[in-house]
Amino acid sequence: MSRLLLSGARIVCPYTSIDSTGDVLIEDGRVAAVCIGKSLDVDQAESVDCKGLVLSPAFVDVHVHLREPGEEHKETIASGASAALAGGFTTICAMPNTNPAIDNSRLVRWVIDRANGTGIRVLPIGAITIARQGKVPVDYEAMVKAGAVAFSDDGSPVMNSRMMRLALLYSRTLGVPISSHCEDTELSAKGCMHDGAVSARLGLPGIPASAEEAMIYRDLSLAAETGGHIHIAHVSTSGGVEAIRHAKKIGVRVTAEATPHHFTFTDEWVAGWRDSSTDRCLSISAYDTNAKVNPPLRSREHVEAVIDGLVDGTIDAIATDHAPHSVLEKDCPFEEAAFGISGLETALPLSLELVRTGRISMMKMVSLLTISPAKAFGIDHWGIEEGRDANLVLFDPNLKWTVTPSALLSKGKNTPLIGRQVMGRVLMTISGNKRYVREELKAKWKQH
Ligand SMILES: [Zn+2]
Repeated sequence: MSRLLLSGARIVCPYTSIDSTGDVLIEDGRVAAVCIGKSLDVDQAESVDCKGLVLSPAFVDVHVHLREPGEEHKETIASGASAALAGGFTTICAMPNTNPAIDNSRLVRWVIDRANGTGIRVLPIGAITIARQGKVPVDYEAMVKAGAVAFSDDGSPVMNSRMMRLALLYSRTLGVPISSHCEDTELSAKGCMHDGAVSARLGLPGIPASAEEAMIYRDLSLAAETGGHIHIAHVSTSGGVEAIRHAKKIGVRVTAEATPHHFTFTDEWVAGWRDSSTDRCLSISAYDTNAKVNPPLRSREHVEAVIDGLVDGTIDAIATDHAPHSVLEKDCPFEEAAFGISGLETALPLSLELVRTGRISMMKMVSLLTISPAKAFGIDHWGIEEGRDANLVLFDPNLKWTVTPSALLSKGKNTPLIGRQVMGRVLMTISGNKRYVREELKAKWKQH
């Protein structure tokens, strides 16, 4: 029998409402005992001294791009799963904008099979329309039966309102959310960053906030009318947050997510590395293609509105929109570069920044990464509870590390944080019998 004793960690579990120091014993991939306030005395167990560390349920990410099938040079299901474990995630929802797109039940099953043995749960999100072209609806029912947990044409919006309305009608019947990438492509046009003072200064075509807001209004209206469940992906605008807040008040079935990059970085990051609280320029690297993302990094006012949305529950979840790209797609002129940030492995340090600055509590942060996204997507997920499969993450909220290409397990090294120091790191992720352990933790490890 394998026994692992995690002793003296700060246990933060929104499922049991525990935020206390204690010991957790794991036996053969299951939580055998949780002991709060006093220590467990166990023979024949490996043990880890977890003083100063936080132990929480492992994270859930409802928005991940794994690139397989079709663009395996950017990421595979296996490499994405490794990045997830390194970032503290054991449940991730895979977006269908692969090649071919995940638009039928056979491909849904293929993704699930392909993820077998990675040690984490990869839950497929099906496309809303065949080949994500916005024209022909998929067989929603067959895909849900095959294991699709939601539908989305993410990467592209569903510009055809009648198609979105139909998807929401199916959502009501089938009980799964429609995750919407809200962008009016007539308004975003050839824009490549947020439309505002910085885009004007840099001479780059802008994407106005209204490109997102107008589509959020449309989707909320369709959800209100149909009773379907709309999930607004990567909210980045103050008007979007306000609209969702109002829709929730009047009983629309809406949930929403925000990404760590949208609640941390402003559009100033396109022009160089900034201090994330003051926007003071720390180094100029004009036209940083690693800061090019869709929706774009917005101005300070929008970033603050997104944080307010997380604080007051308007935004349900933190999701990474992990979008790995190879050097080829980013080492080029800004306007030609691909949109996207590799985010699984830096979500924790960026989320912890909200705790450090006093905007949210540690419990709230853990909720936004676990129980809240799981609830929004109807995913079976659980906390640190006796008898349940071990599904935990152990992290050091104060450990400083430098984000370098080699520090990231994802094939996508595309993050504006490259070369920057961040604070907070996952030291171990446990998913049943699968364990990811970072080197730093091995010094605290005692064999029996
Ligand atoms: Zn998107």
